[in-house]
Amino acid sequence: MCKEACTNLMGVHGTYTLEQTGGKAICIYCGQCANVCPVDSITERDETSQVQKAIADPDKVVVVSTSPAVRASLGEEFGLEPGAFVEGKMVALLRALGVDYVLDTNFAADLTIVEEASELIRRITEQDRPLPQFTSCCPGWVHFAEIYFPELLPHLSTAKSPIGMQGPTVKTYFAQKMGLDSGQIVHVALTPCTAKKFEIRREELHAAADYHGVEGIRDTDQVITTRELARWAKAMEIDWDALEDSAYDSLMGKASGAGVIFGNTGGVMEAALRTAYEYLSGQRAPESLLHLSPVRGYDGVREAQVEIGELTLQVAVVYGTANARAFLRRMEESGKQYHFVEVMACPGGCIGGGGQPKNLMKNADEVRKSRIAALYQRDGAMTLRTSHENPEIKEVYEAFYGQPLSPLAEQMLHTTYQDRNELIHQKGGDSVKKWVCGICGYIYDEAKEGTVFETLPESWVCPLCGADKSAFAPQQSSVETKTQPAPIHQMDEMRQLSAGELSAVCSNLARGCEKQYKEREAALFREIADYLSAAQSPVADPSLDKLLELIRQDLSEGYPGLNGAAVAAGDRGTQRICVWGEKVTRMLESLLNRYQKDGEAFLKDTQVWVCTVCGFIYVGDSAPQLCPVCKVPAWKFEKIEGRG
Ligand code: SF4
Repeated sequence: MCKEACTNLMGVHGTYTLEQTGGKAICIYCGQCANVCPVDSITERDETSQVQKAIADPDKVVVVSTSPAVRASLGEEFGLEPGAFVEGKMVALLRALGVDYVLDTNFAADLTIVEEASELIRRITEQDRPLPQFTSCCPGWVHFAEIYFPELLPHLSTAKSPIGMQGPTVKTYFAQKMGLDSGQIVHVALTPCTAKKFEIRREELHAAADYHGVEGIRDTDQVITTRELARWAKAMEIDWDALEDSAYDSLMGKASGAGVIFGNTGGVMEAALRTAYEYLSGQRAPESLLHLSPVRGYDGVREAQVEIGELTLQVAVVYGTANARAFLRRMEESGKQYHFVEVMACPGGCIGGGGQPKNLMKNADEVRKSRIAALYQRDGAMTLRTSHENPEIKEVYEAFYGQPLSPLAEQMLHTTYQDRNELIHQKGGDSVKKWVCGICGYIYDEAKEGTVFETLPESWVCPLCGADKSAFAPQQSSVETKTQPAPIHQMDEMRQLSAGELSAVCSNLARGCEKQYKEREAALFREIADYLSAAQSPVADPSLDKLLELIRQDLSEGYPGLNGAAVAAGDRGTQRICVWGEKVTRMLESLLNRYQKDGEAFLKDTQVWVCTVCGFIYVGDSAPQLCPVCKVPAWKFEKIEGRG
């Protein structure tokens, strides 16, 4: 049964060999194998003991946020029919177990919609990023795309999932409003989803730590599933029938009907279109958008056309990553243009999540349909149907985030993704390889493209940035690729910059270092930027010599030492920082050497672009589609103005 779920629903089992992966199984953490296992041979990793420990600790404040789909299935664990809507009892149960605050992840579903709909409008009107936009709120789907379709990553919405937004908002806005120390808060997500256990541990999800300028805080500390909560309640002998309905705590406890339907397939699309319509047209969403029939239902793929003024949006809704694989193939073959595509990994969306009650053996589809009906019924009964009209959402923007896509919202509520394609190419890549463009990061994957080269042909041109064959190198393995120094041609381009441009570059590098918690390097780059902007002529300035000495020391001792310690400790975060830090430090050494030698004599009329996240430099007519260092899209690049 587990094999069938992984093969037929998820499209993972059978897509690789263990020779290819170095003996490791590929997993997107959807939990469908655990959900169908009749004898619990495969289970989720239970985190309730950590939550109980936090509840027992008087110095901790335990905040639980509940996902949309849990309230439509938890009752099944206590003898109720599938689709029983038990929101009030669920909140009461959490309070009975000792939780300090109960908040609603549906609130963050509304927040996700506001950000994601705004991003969609920006993609359509400003064409800053490619269409179609794919949803990114399902970590199973995101992980699937990172492994199998890395070329799709610029299409994934940068908006975090509802839990990805709830965590940092709890530890900043909510903490401030409630007078809590963010370090005291243990934020727990109650979800139908096992993949969330992976998602909250992604390296990128530490926005609250960034905000507070501290390290070691995760935005969300624990994830427990519907099943785990039920087991915990039964172990504590809580009398379910005796529980009186309880309401959520305020500030982040209110949601619209659009947030409610996030829990089922098609819900994210319908919710986003309601808000996008009102943002674009300035008019109330019509009744047809409050019940968008073509995207409702239980088929694995549904499509619709939605008219908004002059615009006709082509949208699609997919569940099951096996269906997503087939949909992507059809999309490519047919050339059909879409604006927005929703993908959820699990059958029927999150109501069919891997952490949901396991009474799916007899009639799984009917159980899932009942849960879906419960959420649509709740939405239909509400007066508040659109995310942006949620008063608590308006309040969080007024008091904290400013407006959708504001710099703070970008920092806290948006994220980046990682190309994890190497997971299925760890071994056996001698005959079939990938070629990586050192300028823009484009990857030619021989396995996917079907043409295998001994060496690339002389006429080879990068389809993204136009670089010639010399910019390409074969990708050996993830480790080797990540530890390569900056490509030589990149150094050459750096050497062409004027002092003013170098100053701008160094300012950007300083910002990149700040993002990577490299305070010392950030201070160094700021100092160099100031020095260069003030300098009139190249002089053998003793302070420049001093800087070069420090840089060389970092390269010969600092980074190798730090990296060695991190490798020994298995600290992957520090290893990544070392790789990145070494890259930019080498660039800087090259720059300063050139500046010391030639001064202002290296003006050239080529356009220079700088990645505002990591400082990567690109020379060309337009910014690359994807930063090869930190993987952010083209719109994160800034043009350096004022070339002579
Ligand atoms: Fe998790 Fe929902 Fe995605 Fe399933 S569909 S992996 S439950 S987010």
